[in-house]
Amino acid sequence: MISVALLHRPRDLRLAEIPGFELEFDQVMVDVAACGICGSDLRYYHGENPWALHTLGVSLPNPHNIVLGHEFAGTVTDAGGFRQLLGKRVAVMSFKTCGACQHCRGGHENLCRNTTHLGHGAGWGKLEYYPGGMADRCPAWGNLCFELPDAMIFEEAAMLDVVGVGVHAARVGGVRPGVSIAVFGAGPIGNAIMQASRAMGASRAFVVDTYEVALEIAIKCNATAAIEAVEADPVKAIFEANSGACSVVFDTVGSVDTLRKGVALLAEGGTLVNMAVHDMNLTLNSLDIGSERSIKTSCNFLPEEFPLSLSLVESGQIDVKPWITHRFPLREISKAFDVALNKEKHGAFKVIIEPAS
Ligand SMILES: [Zn+2]
Ligand SMILES: [Zn+2]
Repeated sequence: MISVALLHRPRDLRLAEIPGFELEFDQVMVDVAACGICGSDLRYYHGENPWALHTLGVSLPNPHNIVLGHEFAGTVTDAGGFRQLLGKRVAVMSFKTCGACQHCRGGHENLCRNTTHLGHGAGWGKLEYYPGGMADRCPAWGNLCFELPDAMIFEEAAMLDVVGVGVHAARVGGVRPGVSIAVFGAGPIGNAIMQASRAMGASRAFVVDTYEVALEIAIKCNATAAIEAVEADPVKAIFEANSGACSVVFDTVGSVDTLRKGVALLAEGGTLVNMAVHDMNLTLNSLDIGSERSIKTSCNFLPEEFPLSLSLVESGQIDVKPWITHRFPLREISKAFDVALNKEKHGAFKVIIEPAS
């Protein structure tokens, strides 16, 4: 039996003992040391299915009995056919694409509709329980486990999934040396996008949020300026600080308000990248996207972007340590979710579950 954080059904998250998962031929067993609670875990908790919204473009229900957790790292304790990984500290890439579809063969694995995901129900077919990283142990794919450099701690390694999303978004937006970028929403994804854009050469990187803790962390992580969105008009503030519009704007909120403000900030030929697709209509005056402005969405990341993210964190070009504000053992999963769901009340930014503690 293993202890897990089980999302039995929407808003019913329990600490549970369930039978351990058996390894498939391409898997290894990872004793989980650190697993992040992600914004999408909170969406799963509420019954949304963000992966289906982003990748399939449809709103789908989730199956029952998902062990949550897709941002994790740990130690390989059963290596199956991957002997070289036995006893190694690894970062886990939590999704496996099919390799055979048009998207996989075309180098767009992040769009594979046959993806199997740890930490949510996609791709497994019907199971009694769906494996995930908020557990003592979790099976992971051997070829998608990356050995950690000695200096990288598990908490940092658990953040690589988030960094990967940021790296991919910066690439989708076409960030290049010398540009100015802005990010609406300075949570972990927004912060990862800001730092990835910096690593790719952005000269100025602005973030906008209403949450003071997120703004402070953005400054620690080398944002040019962090704009409080209630008191200041973010569009005006960024125009002034940047002496003009931004080439790339990222919207991690996905509301009508952030879309309009984001478009208003775009330079001619610029790109707005929407990171939060919701099942709702957005209205926009099409004049505002004249002069070759474009709006794109960004889904997850490419397999090559996971080791790239590891290098960016290892080299210090991206710093995830300031993100982590709270740590909980697995047995305190309810408390951990309470903090993550009410982050402003608790001053939280990133909450980590440490099953081994
Ligand atoms: Zn995530
Ligand atoms: Zn595929």
